[in-house]
Amino acid sequence: VIGVIKSAFNAFVRLFYPRVCAGCGGNLLSGEEHICLVCHQNLVPTQFNLRKENAFFKTMSARVPIEAATAMYYFTKGGIIQHILHEIKYKGNRALAVYLGQIFGKKNLKDDIFSTVDVVVPVPLHPKKEKSRGYNQCALIGSGIAEVMGKRLEIAALKRVNFTTTQTHKGRTDRWENVKDAFELGNTDALKGKHILLLDDVMTTGATLEACARTLMNIEGVRLSIATLVYTDEL
Ligand SMILES: [Zn+2]
Repeated sequence: VIGVIKSAFNAFVRLFYPRVCAGCGGNLLSGEEHICLVCHQNLVPTQFNLRKENAFFKTMSARVPIEAATAMYYFTKGGIIQHILHEIKYKGNRALAVYLGQIFGKKNLKDDIFSTVDVVVPVPLHPKKEKSRGYNQCALIGSGIAEVMGKRLEIAALKRVNFTTTQTHKGRTDRWENVKDAFELGNTDALKGKHILLLDDVMTTGATLEACARTLMNIEGVRLSIATLVYTDEL
């Protein structure tokens, strides 16, 4: 009886909140969640997880000592991934962010190289920005990852202390000036000697990741790996 009531309730809810794909806006079929099958197939996987010495790892390990780096999808301008990022950053689609984290964890982070990760640390937003947005999309992605990896999510490890302006139109040097002092350590008592997976939603120049990584390196005995949902080297 409860099952019948539940499915009737779900059908009722769907009348008012139709389930649509975050990529194309089309209706989702039963069995599809957040992103339709066609959009899933149009996303471009980086396959960085198949090679330790991937482009992302090479870029970042030249700047900070890291164990590994991976990203799930390539950014394509005007592509489905751009819609998806817009949904999680500006449209309040929290469930989508958690769902993407779960896929990321299952598909890319189950490999040996990430098996020694102890804790997932998302890049923080400035408190003012998080307040106006209502959430940190990166922490939501991180909760999905932590859940499927069976690891801890630590959102208090890093604090964003500078309210940085948007980085979209800045060059690489400006970006680094913009973020190099933007982060401080928060509560890190439980992170000594741990392997931290630093997580961001998008990798562009790597300036934000580098600033966060340099800050986290001040924790005694810590090891670092880096993961981002989306990777681009086009900007
Ligand atoms: Zn779709």
